[in-house]
Amino acid sequence: MKTNPIHIIGGGLAGCEAAWQIAAHGVRVILHEMRPQRATAAHKTESLAELVCSNSFRSDDHEHNAVGLLHEEMRRLNSLIVRAADANQVPAGGALAVDRDGFAAAVTEAISAHPLIEVRRQEIAALPPDDWNSVIVATGPLTSPALAEAISTLTGEDALAFFDAIAPIVHRDSIDMTVAWFQSRYDKAGPGGSGVDYINCPLTREQYEAFVDALVAGDKTAFNEWEGTPYFDGCLPIEVMAERGRETLRHGPMKPFGLTNPHPGTSKAYAVVQLRQDNKLGTLFNMVGFQTKLKHGEQTRIFRSIPGLERAEFARLGGLHRNTFLNSPKLLDAMLRLKAMPRLRFAGQITGCEGYVESAAVGLMAGRFAAAEGQGEMLAPPPPTTAHGALLNHITGGHIETIDAGPRSYQPMNVNFGLFPPFDRALPLDENGKRPRGPAKALARKRALCHRALDDLEEWIGAVRMAAE
Ligand SMILES: Cc1cc2nc3c(=O)[nH]c(=O)nc-3n(C[C@H](O)[C@H](O)[C@H](O)COP(=O)(O)OP(=O)(O)OC[C@H]3O[C@@H](n4cnc5c(N)ncnc54)[C@H](O)[C@@H]3O)c2cc1C
Repeated sequence: MKTNPIHIIGGGLAGCEAAWQIAAHGVRVILHEMRPQRATAAHKTESLAELVCSNSFRSDDHEHNAVGLLHEEMRRLNSLIVRAADANQVPAGGALAVDRDGFAAAVTEAISAHPLIEVRRQEIAALPPDDWNSVIVATGPLTSPALAEAISTLTGEDALAFFDAIAPIVHRDSIDMTVAWFQSRYDKAGPGGSGVDYINCPLTREQYEAFVDALVAGDKTAFNEWEGTPYFDGCLPIEVMAERGRETLRHGPMKPFGLTNPHPGTSKAYAVVQLRQDNKLGTLFNMVGFQTKLKHGEQTRIFRSIPGLERAEFARLGGLHRNTFLNSPKLLDAMLRLKAMPRLRFAGQITGCEGYVESAAVGLMAGRFAAAEGQGEMLAPPPPTTAHGALLNHITGGHIETIDAGPRSYQPMNVNFGLFPPFDRALPLDENGKRPRGPAKALARKRALCHRALDDLEEWIGAVRMAAE
């Protein structure tokens, strides 16, 4: 059957993976990449799939780590990006790190040599023409300004962000609830809440003073020259607030008012850190108002000094970066299509995932959805228990909109186990025939989540194959 070509805008990690998947399904692709005709502020070469910063795809442990699991799933789904990474691996302990030039060259070569893929070196500076009836936009965190403006006009201004201002996100089960407690300020239920929506961590005056000192003294990362100064929208980094005066935080995100510590024998808190539910599963909570430029090691050290967070496990740490991304849970359907213009599909970091591997994985799914659609079929999304499904679910629906009518809280996120539905069966017995406890239990839980994911992925691959026959 002769089908119309699928157009992909952006030859980065997501665009190349999408092109490969589509071509592997026998559908023609035209891939539009603006480099070298037009540069971005971070890319240095004209190669496709250039890694703009680190050369690491992070942990390759598919038994205990969510990104390692994502690698393994991608291998099973014929990923070009992971195949090129495996072929260009450099020693990096348990991580999958690559020779960046060899990696980009391998991807560029595979894409350029594929008979069903045509690469056009050109910027797409406006919404695609009407006769492109299937398009994947994979233009990344540094989407060219002209296209970003066109998308922003189509989606509405608030729906396309140009910076991420990320507060740290904590795994709920690592918060010490013998110290912290659930309560909304003044017990207000708000439009979508219940009156007990926030987790509150109390600080005494002494603890607050020490915390402010640590923030001011903490090591920070600088903005890149091209990032500009994104102090906008009331999104001041927490350490900048601390520098403005010792009481600023206590009258801002750390105000103690309207909150009563129910734990026996406690006195009124001098300051309170609030955490708000971040995903529908209720497994992740973000630290309200804690966007920061502190270095990652400093964040872990300083934020673990907050009572209740001594053993906090962070699903992601805070940051403030130049990044173009959509409010995807609102704008995209479950197949990554723009609800307002379904011929446009989005993939990669512009959807609000974060990282090389996640961007490529979203490209993989977008490519498969588009290829199936091009052949008049419907592809069921991968199950939410797989790393692909968990990521897709986070992007297209798993995120809660807001519980207090505050600003939108959807921010880019790496894949992590907090995005997976909890493992609700009994954990397997250990070699001594006992249920694992303590740290062994945490490891066993991760292993169980990984095994469930790979089993469910295989079932999905089987079902897709059967439907195609
Ligand atoms: C400075 C910086 C550092 C980063 N460091 C890391 C890191 O260390 N580790 C990590 O995992 N992630 C990192 N990231 C995130 C990383 O960029 C993304 O995770 C990943 O590259 C996103 O893949 P993508 O395919 O969505 O976008 P990209 O890989 O950026 O690809 C997008 C492509 O689209 C092209 N393009 C843009 N606009 C147009 C247009 N209008 N027409 C045609 N082509 C266009 C671009 O030239 C580019 O080739 C970093 C991001 C930035 C900005």
